[in-house]
Amino acid sequence: FSSILGLADWLRRRTLRAAHRPALTCDDVTWTYGELWDRIERLSAVLAAQGVKQGDRVGYLGFDDPMFLVCQFATARLGAIFVPLNFRLTGPELAFIINDAGLHLLLAGPEHQGIIDGVRRDISCSRFLSASRDAEGWPSALALMVDCGSIPAQVKTEPEDVAALMYTSGTTGHPKGAMLTHHNFWSQNLNVLLTKDLTSDDVTLGFVPLFHVGGMLTVTLPTLLAGGHVILLRGFDAGAVLNAIARYRVSLTFAVPAMLLFMSQHPDFESADLSSLRLMSVGGAPMPEPLLRVYQARSIPLHQGYGMTETSATISFLHSGRAADKLGSCGTPGMLTDICLKDGAGQRITQAHAKGEICVRSSNVMKGYWNNPAASAAAFDEEGWFRTGDVGYVDDEGFLYLCDRIRDVIITGGENVYPAEVESVLYEYPAVAQCAVVGAPDEKWGERVVAVVVPKSNASVTLEELRNFAETKLARYKLPRELLLLENLPRNAAGKVLKASIREQLRQ
Ligand code: ATP
Ligand code: MG
Repeated sequence: FSSILGLADWLRRRTLRAAHRPALTCDDVTWTYGELWDRIERLSAVLAAQGVKQGDRVGYLGFDDPMFLVCQFATARLGAIFVPLNFRLTGPELAFIINDAGLHLLLAGPEHQGIIDGVRRDISCSRFLSASRDAEGWPSALALMVDCGSIPAQVKTEPEDVAALMYTSGTTGHPKGAMLTHHNFWSQNLNVLLTKDLTSDDVTLGFVPLFHVGGMLTVTLPTLLAGGHVILLRGFDAGAVLNAIARYRVSLTFAVPAMLLFMSQHPDFESADLSSLRLMSVGGAPMPEPLLRVYQARSIPLHQGYGMTETSATISFLHSGRAADKLGSCGTPGMLTDICLKDGAGQRITQAHAKGEICVRSSNVMKGYWNNPAASAAAFDEEGWFRTGDVGYVDDEGFLYLCDRIRDVIITGGENVYPAEVESVLYEYPAVAQCAVVGAPDEKWGERVVAVVVPKSNASVTLEELRNFAETKLARYKLPRELLLLENLPRNAAGKVLKASIREQLRQ
């Protein structure tokens, strides 16, 4: 008997202990654990009837919906591999992933049938099911079940079997399929339970896309493991989030910084009742300090976490109690996680405050990238540390601070500029609604610092004003030399700014 439980196994055991407790609420319909498990068993029968066997890849394309989780656990019951797809992708981008993963079957929501129809001839997958729900909230794919006979036996999985292919956000290039094992999921869930003190009394609200590790694994799955109640919104809407927190007395959420920014700019923000929140975690992209202070001023318990797809989400997390005095830090490593910093030559950095690449060793680090041995080999160094590609430093108490991604660092006249630091300062300028800082090629300096700003409505911003404002807060070489005004920043489905696309725009 292994104490590392596979996905379907732990949910089955939780259901035995909490069958009548609420598990999921979406669109005003609530399912208990028993009802959720019933739907999972039925869908696994449908999938088995479609020929899904252990190790096969089952894709899911749809907005956040209980069907996502039903499909994920039904796939796990058969020992198959779940592949959640990003609903923001274009037809050809989806076709790339569908073929890369070699899907046996794809479950798609009603809104996504069209895009799949458009690329049917280009994809190797030939089995499709509709993930729509009927009036009672039953997945209509289950209609196929009428004469379907008995529920297939649950397949026993090994901890190192792959449970899901989670594609990275594609912020820096093509998304890569991280192979996450049952052991990875289990460790991530334990890391969250141990750091966030999650219990069956927690009510968590999900509004970050579930196909993203931040949506799936920072609160949603850990809540189900703990026997708590998950409220799912089908997408992000700042007003709807503020409203749902008060309505369901939500105790826990996860957001990316862009969402917290849009919530803080919403007219209902000041009056919203957020008193039920005991913890709001944020991560996935650099969090500007002025925004942290907006939430701190409202006494909203905002805690920064740091993670990535390849680590099944969490690497580090800032615990309660230190959130105020360690403002800006993304905390200490999870209980099951070790981190270290390495310099360009691969040597360990032990000095406090010295910057280096953050490297991770943990049972929630992926097995490798699917179908990509070269990228898998490059992701780990010779000592087996996973290389994050992020630069950071550790203070003298062991708290981690993130500087930025190595590839976004701007090198101007031989000096390193971390865009996140400059962005934090620009966010303090009252006329700035959104901003991003990138490097542009420069004949004299190698690169120059460019500020890309979305001004607040009816406000104007000039380069001179920004430079004057930032002059006392930043060294001269960090000050923007060029300003680009945009109506909106290009962002991916996780709300991250697509800097490569801004750099491309600048080159043109
Ligand atoms: P891709 O790997 O496809 O380019 P991505 O790196 O954005 O996309 P994710 O795995 O979703 O895909 O994101 C992980 C990255 O997000 C980290 O490597 C880091 O750069 C950034 N990140 C995560 N948490 C934080 C945080 N708290 N502060 C700053 N950056 C963060
Ligand atoms: Mg990445």
